[in-house]
Amino acid sequence: MQSNSKKIHRLKVGGNYYTIKLVDREDISNERDSGECNAAKLSIKIGEDMPQGAKEVTLIHEILHALNITLDEKDIEFLAQGIYQVLKDNNLKTEWKF
Ligand SMILES: [Zn+2]
Repeated sequence: MQSNSKKIHRLKVGGNYYTIKLVDREDISNERDSGECNAAKLSIKIGEDMPQGAKEVTLIHEILHALNITLDEKDIEFLAQGIYQVLKDNNLKTEWKF
């Protein structure tokens, strides 16, 4: 099978380019969070200590924050899990490397 995976280090979200970084939990503002989106710095941080699937859900989660900073946490959580499930269960998702 042909692999078209590539390392994700930058993503265009809306009209902006976000830097994607895997980081130690200590580098996330709230250590209990698995990720962080900083719209001012155009950066998305993802905790490196999680399994691959959790990192991927977190990336979708933080992208949703980037797309609309007014969405509330509960809605984003639900949407991120749902989008991830549809991509994965329909084999629409390539391998994501961070
Ligand atoms: Zn969130």
